[in-house]
Amino acid sequence: MAEPVFFLLCLIAVFALAMQRAPLWLWAVALASATLVWQTEMLHGEFDEPDFTLLQLLAWVPVVVLAGLSIPPLRRVALIEPIFRKIKGILPRVSATEQEALNAGTIGFDAELFSGTPDWEKLRAVPAITLTAEEKAFLDGPTAELCRMVDDWKIRHDQHEIPEYIWDFVKKNGFLGMLISKEHGGLGFSAQAQSLILGKIASRSPDVCTLVMVPNSLGPGELIEKYGTPEQKEHFLPRLAKGLEVPCFSLTGPTSGSDAATMRDVGYVTRGRHEGKEVVGIRVSWDKRYITLGPNATLIGLAFRLMDPDKILDLDRGPDLGITVALIPADHPGVNIGRRHLPSGSAFPNGPNWAKDVFIPMDWVIGGEKMVGQGWRMLMECLAAGRSISLPSSSAAGAKSLLRNSTAYARVRKQFDLPIGKMEGLEEPLARMVEVAYVNEAARGVTAAMVSRGEKPSVISAIMKYQSTERMRRSLNDAMDLHGGKGVCDGPTNWLQAAYQAMPVGITVEGANILTRSLITFAQGALRSHPYLYKEIQACQDFDEERGLYAFDAAFRNHVSFSLSNLFGAFFHNITFGIFGHVPEKAYGTAEWYRQLWRASRNFALVADLTVAVLGGGLKTKQKLTGRLADALSELYLLSCVLKRYEDDGKPANDRYIVALCARNGLFHFQEALRGTIDNFPVAPVRWLMRLAVFPFGAHYKPAPDWLGHKAVELVLVPGEVRDRLTRYIFVSNDANDATGALELAFVKAVAAEAAEKKLNRAIRDGRVQRVHGTDWFAEAVKLGIITAAEGDMLRELETLTARVIAVDHFEPAEVRPHYMTAGHNARAARSAAAE
Ligand SMILES: Cc1cc2nc3c(=O)[nH]c(=O)nc-3n(C[C@H](O)[C@H](O)[C@H](O)COP(=O)(O)OP(=O)(O)OC[C@H]3O[C@@H](n4cnc5c(N)ncnc54)[C@H](O)[C@@H]3O)c2cc1C
Repeated sequence: MAEPVFFLLCLIAVFALAMQRAPLWLWAVALASATLVWQTEMLHGEFDEPDFTLLQLLAWVPVVVLAGLSIPPLRRVALIEPIFRKIKGILPRVSATEQEALNAGTIGFDAELFSGTPDWEKLRAVPAITLTAEEKAFLDGPTAELCRMVDDWKIRHDQHEIPEYIWDFVKKNGFLGMLISKEHGGLGFSAQAQSLILGKIASRSPDVCTLVMVPNSLGPGELIEKYGTPEQKEHFLPRLAKGLEVPCFSLTGPTSGSDAATMRDVGYVTRGRHEGKEVVGIRVSWDKRYITLGPNATLIGLAFRLMDPDKILDLDRGPDLGITVALIPADHPGVNIGRRHLPSGSAFPNGPNWAKDVFIPMDWVIGGEKMVGQGWRMLMECLAAGRSISLPSSSAAGAKSLLRNSTAYARVRKQFDLPIGKMEGLEEPLARMVEVAYVNEAARGVTAAMVSRGEKPSVISAIMKYQSTERMRRSLNDAMDLHGGKGVCDGPTNWLQAAYQAMPVGITVEGANILTRSLITFAQGALRSHPYLYKEIQACQDFDEERGLYAFDAAFRNHVSFSLSNLFGAFFHNITFGIFGHVPEKAYGTAEWYRQLWRASRNFALVADLTVAVLGGGLKTKQKLTGRLADALSELYLLSCVLKRYEDDGKPANDRYIVALCARNGLFHFQEALRGTIDNFPVAPVRWLMRLAVFPFGAHYKPAPDWLGHKAVELVLVPGEVRDRLTRYIFVSNDANDATGALELAFVKAVAAEAAEKKLNRAIRDGRVQRVHGTDWFAEAVKLGIITAAEGDMLRELETLTARVIAVDHFEPAEVRPHYMTAGHNARAARSAAAE
């Protein structure tokens, strides 16, 4: 055999063994066979190496080592135990709160992406968007009715308050109890239905959406439903479902924002009098702020740290029992609540609450005495699911509404005799808006379906929270630019300002975005989603050393073969440009994207694994790297959702352009996130290795070409199925008296009148018709036979509608004085009078 052939065969064997994650003994057999062939060929004189006996002998050392390591007891003594002890010595103990955060929620499709070899069937097994007949009727009935009732300007500006009739309607129709089971008087709707209902309301009014969202996310209702005592369930749930109780959830305080677990709000177990009897209870003090619905709440879900210094509760734990959640009536003596913050121009109630040394009985703790100290776990569990629903639903709906209104406005508004949407400069922001609307809705639908079937995907929920809100923020900025002054000046006919003002709230709540991106998604997420890392850490922390060592051996062995497989797999798929990436069955039209996604997942698995292995405990402080890796993982997840949505929608022909737009940009952003990680990786040899494996021929994904953006925008600048599909499930008004209704009608008319308008414009350009104030240029054009009488009527109607759509509100100065000025002035005057 010729030498080059031999070496080529060896190389192929190494790739095959590594990529197939072959066991150690197979590596030993392969190496022994190669050594044997090499030496036999040398004997036969085929190879021109010198016949050097010592070298021949030494060549068997790796074979013996590998063979030895294949024998479990030998491997444990010689290799695994020293590594185990070393890691055990340096590994910081995972704190109880960290452990609870890690244990909370489930691992989902994120783990497939971390594995480098995603199982597409798992993605396809997630149900498409489905609603029961009752849920659908609720979405089309009371939800649409609520949207019609809402006067956003009145709420946001005139009253700076959600009016009573909206509260009444919401309570009467059960909106506040969507997540409460039917058994307890709620609607018992699926996560998918809740997400769509919230989204539809959000497309009309962020304030009303918040009012409905808060009782249906992390808070008393959900916590009682999942952890409450039978008595608490029986008493509170029906009352919450009917809106007889208005809940709020008090976690954040002045010193405990993102780091909520460090709260200084503390309760001491003690004895005290309640309803005339001496009972065991808690004396609690707290200082909370930013609490949504707080000013109107009747029931506070309060999180505080519980101490039992006198060991009154017979618990086998230290004096600090941990974070506990209790239900406190807002009118309980000593509770201060009702003052308001003014969050970013929004009108939903939000404010502080505080108390000092208030006594509450033990049975006000959610779940009673047995749940003391379980608060953090309860919160983390609920957050893992809730974060997948609330903000992703409003961000998807927001992106869809922005697209619907912006495409209409871009078609109706003309400058330089051209609809502004047809100018290339505006095509760019519009194409980005198309992409965000498609991606946000795709990921919202897939994730809500996962939650509906019982998953609590903690890493995915973090991705959804920060990605969907960030993307919506980008769309908002694009929409503002596109609208020019019309978007800037607020008033009843401004359809952007409500979302623009509410956006920072979405960015901040449920884990502020920077923290969620740079810490939660990857730095903590890697531990959850990595196939072996968490197992290794758990093994090192096992109090039973022998059991720990055996578990560590299994996890470590798998980890090494996983790393090798990623290294060779990534390199292989990069030098072959992904053409061998795994594609699921029936992937017509999407095969290329699946292939590239597979390749990207291999690259991500390699870089993520090496980053975790090399940086270890230092990962939490390397937030620029973990932030980029979070972005890379997000792109993989979002593109997976895009492909699934396209398939679930039945692969509509026109949508393929939009899918291609999303896929190309998604892969490009993925590549840039990974490139940034590698370029800034602090350990040079690892950086070189990563670069060689991931970018052997450099970075070659490019952003979507201009023609694709043009095609996507062209599809949505006309009324029709593509625009409707891209903006599905939001509230669409066709009422000419409504600002967005008039916009929608003007848009339809503008497209219908296009041909007639061209004729008229030509005549104006030629000087045959004058278009100046004081003349009736439509009548003139009809008289000259340039357009028909019907076309003249249509253009006149369009002109009237357009004038309304482009009009900007103006007010008497007194009308726009903030409503709180008089009350605030009076209060300040009273305070200074009292001081005098
Ligand atoms: C309108 C509104 C409604 C709210 N509703 C409620 C409610 O109903 N109940 C409730 O309990 N709370 C509520 N909150 C509180 C909200 O959850 C907090 O504002 C949020 O947790 C952030 O805390 P903070 O504002 O104190 O910011 P900080 O914690 O001071 O954070 C400031 C910045 O630092 C970043 N940061 C912090 N730590 C890290 C880290 N380790 N790594 C990287 N970045 C980090 C954050 O991302 C942020 O950008 C609400 C807040 C607002 C504004």
